[in-house]
Amino acid sequence: MDYDVVVVGARCAGASTALLLARQGRRVLLVDKAPFPSDTMSTLYIHQPGVTRLARWGVLDDVVASGCPPLDTISHDIDGLSLTSAVPAVDGVSAAYAPRRYVLDELLVRAAVAAGAEFTDRAQVRELVRRDDRVTGVRLRTGDATATVSAGLVIGADGMRSKIADLVGAPVLRSAPRASCVYYTFWRGLRTGFGFHERPGRWIARIPTHDDLTVVAAYMPQAEFAEARRDPEEAYLSAVESTAPDLYEQMMAAERADRLRGTGDQRNYFRTAHGPGWALVGDAAHHLDTISARGITNAFIQADLIADAMSGVPTEDAASVDGATSGFARTMADTLEGPYKSTLELAKLRPTKTRLRMLHAVAGSPELTSRYFAMVSGVIGMREFMTADVVDLL
Ligand SMILES: Cc1cc2nc3c(=O)[nH]c(=O)nc-3n(C[C@H](O)[C@H](O)[C@H](O)COP(=O)(O)OP(=O)(O)OC[C@H]3O[C@@H](n4cnc5c(N)ncnc54)[C@H](O)[C@@H]3O)c2cc1C
Repeated sequence: MDYDVVVVGARCAGASTALLLARQGRRVLLVDKAPFPSDTMSTLYIHQPGVTRLARWGVLDDVVASGCPPLDTISHDIDGLSLTSAVPAVDGVSAAYAPRRYVLDELLVRAAVAAGAEFTDRAQVRELVRRDDRVTGVRLRTGDATATVSAGLVIGADGMRSKIADLVGAPVLRSAPRASCVYYTFWRGLRTGFGFHERPGRWIARIPTHDDLTVVAAYMPQAEFAEARRDPEEAYLSAVESTAPDLYEQMMAAERADRLRGTGDQRNYFRTAHGPGWALVGDAAHHLDTISARGITNAFIQADLIADAMSGVPTEDAASVDGATSGFARTMADTLEGPYKSTLELAKLRPTKTRLRMLHAVAGSPELTSRYFAMVSGVIGMREFMTADVVDLL
């Protein structure tokens, strides 16, 4: 066996999985077909459970040193309310971050390599190697060269359009229709901080990142995507102007720093995430509407879960590997069910009366507002948020 594990895809899911498995002393090969460092579509925000993992893995200091600004307050404007609070502190980390992906993914890859993983970019997996019904390796294409690599476990961290999922025929277990679409770009010199503006049919996010830039994203219903595509600039700017006029005014006085990007391919699914000799992590395993900005955090959670499941499991022992990946898939689906459900609800862009009543109720109390944001960030669950005092207010 050439490696214990081959991880296909080296961004937030793959690089962090490789990092944790390499730290277990395993021989890990991490490959990506893209050149690194490189960018990918994202509005960049990492929730607290993701940031605390970066801190635990020793990567957060590098993110901070890269000049990524800390996001220590959060605001949410909706229905005449303006909720503002400090970003919830967890494990001594009291800021969130939104690093550029060509910074974050590269730092994770470097950490994986420092932990002993081998990394090759511009290397594409086109086929799997099998013995009977078991995946035992990959065929890699790098430039004109093709190589066969054997491994005890092949992990597909290759995104929503996963080739590995395709090759193993991993079925979608559950899915929901696309609900939103999004356009975003970067603005230099905004002084708006981190937050959201919401009204029926619109969700605007402003997220400060490196180089004095702020991502401003406009989410609209999927039903409007065909119309928005005809004139994305107009759709984007009028969504911001009609939902967050103060932000729009600042944008008009600021420097636009990039082209507009957008997508309507907002899939919602859980795939079967394990099988004989293989597993899926990150978007390959589970994707949800990007409106809740959960993808990176979910990728880190999955990396932790698969590393925990594999801890102490010898990769030569096929039955134990398959038992571990099956356990990972179960725990992953349970852990990510809550954020999935709340994201599906949010992505409808139809704030319910109950939710508005709850927001009006918590707005009067700094403590409850802070707890509300802790729930949104995934620091506490719905049950911990809905304590007797909140229920009484409702
Ligand atoms: C518009 C938009 C906004 C978003 N905003 C946020 C946000 O604010 N916060 C957040 O947390 N998430 C956000 N997301 C989601 C987030 O970007 C993804 O969830 C995250 O990138 C998933 O990481 P991943 O590592 O699973 O997959 P990816 O980032 O998709 O990486 C997969 C990698 O696999 C490689 N690959 C694919 N096929 C092969 C192959 N055959 N061989 C070798 N390599 C291969 C690719 O080159 C790629 O580098 C957003 C997404 C979009 C589209």
